[in-house]
Amino acid sequence: MCVMNFKRRNFFKMICASPLILLGASRMKTFANVALTESDPTGQALCFKLNAKSVDKKDARCARFEPSQNCANCQLFQGKPGDKSAPCTIFQNKIVPAQGWCSAWVKKA
Ligand code: SF4
Repeated sequence: MCVMNFKRRNFFKMICASPLILLGASRMKTFANVALTESDPTGQALCFKLNAKSVDKKDARCARFEPSQNCANCQLFQGKPGDKSAPCTIFQNKIVPAQGWCSAWVKKA
């Protein structure tokens, strides 16, 4: 009886969570078609720039920047070599340009 209740409870939890999972998945798809802008609040917090050449290292948020870094050589850039833009996982798959940069940059493996 107790096992039955446990299984039933888990079943109902799963049913209740399903719409939330689907909603999350649909939002990810939506962001996949949205370009990240420099005015995005998360982008501003992470010093996101559409072009790495415009990064100001004197800005404390951008202090990690090195001239060799850009979105194209970042592990979180989801594009293939040569793509001009692609989704970025740290920004919920919003589109970033290959020549962009932010302080979450991680060397591509
Ligand atoms: Fe570009 Fe990487 Fe920052 Fe995403 S995490 S915006 S790919 S530097």
